[in-house]
Amino acid sequence: MTCPICAGTEAREIPCSRRYTAGWPIHVCTGCRLVHVREHCSADAIARVWSEELFADSPDPKSVLYQATLPAVLARLTYVAATLDQSVGLKDRAVIDIGAGTVAFLDLAAARGGRTFGIEPSAANCARLRAQGHSCHEGTVESYAAGGGADLVTILWTLECTSDPRAMLAAAHRVLADGGRLCVATGSRILVPFKKPLDYYLGEGNPDIHPFHWSAATLAAVLAVAGFRMTWTNSYIVSDVLCVIAAKGEADWTGDHPDAALAFFDRWDRESPMYQ
Ligand SMILES: [Zn+2]
Repeated sequence: MTCPICAGTEAREIPCSRRYTAGWPIHVCTGCRLVHVREHCSADAIARVWSEELFADSPDPKSVLYQATLPAVLARLTYVAATLDQSVGLKDRAVIDIGAGTVAFLDLAAARGGRTFGIEPSAANCARLRAQGHSCHEGTVESYAAGGGADLVTILWTLECTSDPRAMLAAAHRVLADGGRLCVATGSRILVPFKKPLDYYLGEGNPDIHPFHWSAATLAAVLAVAGFRMTWTNSYIVSDVLCVIAAKGEADWTGDHPDAALAFFDRWDRESPMYQ
């Protein structure tokens, strides 16, 4: 695949990947240093995994990692909701959450006065959304054809899971009103102090459902090429979360230092014990 940021086709394999990901390589783009699984599956296939396996009515036990009943998940979503309420305001704002998951963020936004709408491929999650009083589109963001007008679009722990971040951000750009704000939060942040062993970060088996690993620089870059300029970034060095707020507009981008991602994973591989 071509790189979604710089459209480059050259990449180098992260040297530690085979040890943790059962031979499924992770690459760093030689053009902009984006770290990603180059040979990943389609948007529909990723949506199917999330809908039928991770968010099913009788889910795989591993999927509880993504359910907002887990205090750590509720905590990180509360952090984003409180941040947005204090910085841009949620009361009477039209909020679209792309990849609404198990509804928790939209509940938090509605509790702060937001007018909420979820885009979510899981039928079970859409039933939860409707039961909680939220409007929704059942499907991928690529299949959502409605026009703009949102005051706030949120992509929370989702940009790393999509097959095509440019398409997701293009959709966010389309549905966001001029003067509105986009918020992206991710836990797949890199080029920061190690907070956990590498095998915890990469998980078991197929890394395909989290194809993208964003640094602050590559996140700024993909936002810039999608027509957004960042207006705020959290203290991601000391947090498990990389969270940014952006507005429509032009911005320059540089990507990371040429060897930064390779050196980062090499150090992480050598310095962290393996627990699997
Ligand atoms: Zn690139």
